[in-house]
Amino acid sequence: MNDTIKGIHHITAIAGNAKKNYDFYTRVLGLRLVKKTVNFDDPHTYHFYYGDKVGTPGTILTFFPWEGITPGRRGARQVTEIGYSVPENSLDFWLKRFEDNHVTYNKPSEKFGEQYLSFVDPDGLKIELTVPENPDNRAPWTTKEVGLANATRGFHHITITSNKIEATAKILTDVFGYKLLAQYVNRYRFITNAVDQAAIVDLVEVPSEIAGHVAGGSVHHVAFRVENEAILMHYRDKIVNMGLTITEKIDRNYFYSLYFREPGGVLFELATENPGFATDETVEQLGSGLKLPSQYESIRGDIEQSLPKLN
Ligand code: ZN
Repeated sequence: MNDTIKGIHHITAIAGNAKKNYDFYTRVLGLRLVKKTVNFDDPHTYHFYYGDKVGTPGTILTFFPWEGITPGRRGARQVTEIGYSVPENSLDFWLKRFEDNHVTYNKPSEKFGEQYLSFVDPDGLKIELTVPENPDNRAPWTTKEVGLANATRGFHHITITSNKIEATAKILTDVFGYKLLAQYVNRYRFITNAVDQAAIVDLVEVPSEIAGHVAGGSVHHVAFRVENEAILMHYRDKIVNMGLTITEKIDRNYFYSLYFREPGGVLFELATENPGFATDETVEQLGSGLKLPSQYESIRGDIEQSLPKLN
């Protein structure tokens, strides 16, 4: 039994227009929509899950699209960057693709010896494509426009911005089993050896930065991956012992979850690998139907009517 935290499970962010979000992530970035469901607390809002073929933990980016939501602001107490890994020599492809699709990007740069290209999605969410030092051998989802040579492989890292990183670093090292890998100026790179990929958390310390505002184009929470429910509950005890408040176990249909706010202000989730996304549709069908949790099946007609059309 692997009782460690196995890197990032998924990242959840907030979008505005659902169709724009769907088009950007499936067509421009070339991810697979692995689940189309609704916000369990607000069933007239979509919940999209994008990932690889089966939605492997470490590849899953999810969105709540709320039409007309005000834009958020990046700042302290937030996840401020999402990093994907991409193959060597693919950045030219992405530069051209961003040019062709009017995506706002910065010119490629380098940190910790790795080349990266940063850009923003239609709502201003900041994403980086990083060419990792050690090749990423995960099999990507590919499309006609984004093939094997260029496709994203899943998460490389997340960045959290803090006024003071100490308390967050302590959760990463003392509870989650991460260790400090490198430091460059005010960026501290933490890594777990429990997994080969989606293993990095960067903490950036900016004492004067004002707190960000979580709304359109910002990350709502980041989920870390555990193998099963027994391990999930083992971590629940550890968090409680740190004196932090944490939820009870929640059934999210595709995984089981706990949520707590880490001392640096970011909402953390712990999520299980089981049961995964191929529970209410086959791997081939993933993302094709609107999937509702059982409590909303009786009002499916209503919900389908109220959700924005994607095509
Ligand atoms: Zn989540």
